[in-house]
Amino acid sequence: MSGYQLGENVSLAGRNTFRIPARAEILADVKNSDALAELFDFAMLRSGPVMVLGEGSNILFAADVPGVVICLTMSEINIIRDEGDVALVRADAGVNWNDFIGWTLGRGLLGLENMSLIPGTVGACPIQNIGAYGVEAGEFIETVEVFDRQSQRMKRIGKAECEFAYRDSLFKQDLNRYVICAVEFLLPRHRELKLDYAGVREELSGMGIENPRAVHVAEAISRIRTRKLPNPAILGNAGSFFKNPIIPAAQAEQLKSQYDQLPSYPGDSDDTRKISAAWLIENAGWKGFRDGDAGIAEQHALVLVNYGNATGQQLLGLARRVAKSVYEKFGVHIEPEPRIIGASFFE
Ligand SMILES: Cc1cc2nc3c(=O)[nH]c(=O)nc-3n(C[C@H](O)[C@H](O)[C@H](O)COP(=O)(O)OP(=O)(O)OC[C@H]3O[C@@H](n4cnc5c(N)ncnc54)[C@H](O)[C@@H]3O)c2cc1C
Repeated sequence: MSGYQLGENVSLAGRNTFRIPARAEILADVKNSDALAELFDFAMLRSGPVMVLGEGSNILFAADVPGVVICLTMSEINIIRDEGDVALVRADAGVNWNDFIGWTLGRGLLGLENMSLIPGTVGACPIQNIGAYGVEAGEFIETVEVFDRQSQRMKRIGKAECEFAYRDSLFKQDLNRYVICAVEFLLPRHRELKLDYAGVREELSGMGIENPRAVHVAEAISRIRTRKLPNPAILGNAGSFFKNPIIPAAQAEQLKSQYDQLPSYPGDSDDTRKISAAWLIENAGWKGFRDGDAGIAEQHALVLVNYGNATGQQLLGLARRVAKSVYEKFGVHIEPEPRIIGASFFE
C-alpha cells in the first residue's frame, strides 16, 4: 500500500491561517517518510514543482499552487535517550508544535515553554528557527532528519550544520531542497526559567503565582499571546508579517537621535542593531489601517490580517505599500517573514 494519498485540485482555504482559498493542483498527504522517494519520482514524471506545507501559518498564497503540495501526517513522539538530567526527544514533522510543548512539559522536560502557542508543526520549527519571549527552537534542536531532494536519500543534519540564526536556518536558505521528516530535541529537566521578557513576570503575578514552574510560564505566555495577537481561527493572519530589520549600528544611532522611543536590540554582530519593525510600521501610521478586506491589525502593527475575502494579491499589495512607506519615512527596508507563494515580495 502506498504511503501517500493524492487529491486533485484541492482547496487550501482550511490549510493556511490567512484562509486564502488558493488551490493545489495535487495535494499529497504523506503517512511515512519512506514514501517520499516514490512521491518525488511521481512529481518528476509530471515535471511540476513540489512544495511542503505544514499548518500554513507562515505562508501567503498569492496564487494557486501548480504541481504537488506535500503535507506530512506522521505524528509520533518518543524519548530516544534519557540521561536523567536531560533527555533526547524525537518528534515527527506532523506533530502540532504546541501539543509537543505540552507533551514535553508533562514529562518534566523544560526549555520550550516560552514558545507556547506558536502555531504550526514540529517539521516547520527549524525552517525559520521559530522563537518567542527570548527563546529560539534552535537552542534545543540536536538533529534534523530530512529527505534530501538532491541525493534522494534520508539524511541526519546536526545542530552545527543547521546554521540557526534570527528567523533563519540552512533550511530556509534552500526551501526546495529538504523535506523535514522529524526533529530531535535535547531537553533538560532543570533549567532557570526565562521570565525577563515583555510582561511575563507581571502576568504570573496577576495569576497569583509566586514560585513559577515551566507549566505556569507556558500558561502565562499563552494568556499574553491570546490577548495580544488576533486568533487566526477568527481573523486570518500569519502572525508577524515583517521581520525586525537588522541595520548598521551607526544608522540605528542616527535614528535613535531622531526618535528616542525606537526600540533597538543587539544585532548579529557588534556593528549592527536589530530595531522594532512594529514601531516603524505604527509610526508610519499603518496600525489599524484597512483597505477592503486587507488590513493591519488593530492590536499589533506587525500583523497583516484578512477580514474575510481578501485575496493573497491584495494582502501582498498592502504589505508592499507598508514596506515602501516605512522606507520613505525611516530609510529602513523591512522584509516579510512568511513564505510568499506565486509572487515575489520585491517587484
Ligand atoms: C498567530 C500567529 C503567531 C505566530 N507567532 C510566531 C512567533 O511568535 N514566533 C515565530 O517564530 N513564528 C510565529 N508564527 C509563524 C509560524 O507559526 C511559524 O513559522 C511556524 O513554524 C510555521 O509552521 P507551519 O507548520 O504552519 O508551517 P507552514 O506555514 O506550512 O510553512 C512554513 C515554511 O516551512 C516550510 N515547511 C513546513 N513544513 C516543512 C517540512 N516538514 N519540511 C520542509 N519544509 C517545511 C514551508 O514550505 C514554508 O516554507 C506565528 C504565526 C501565527 C499565525
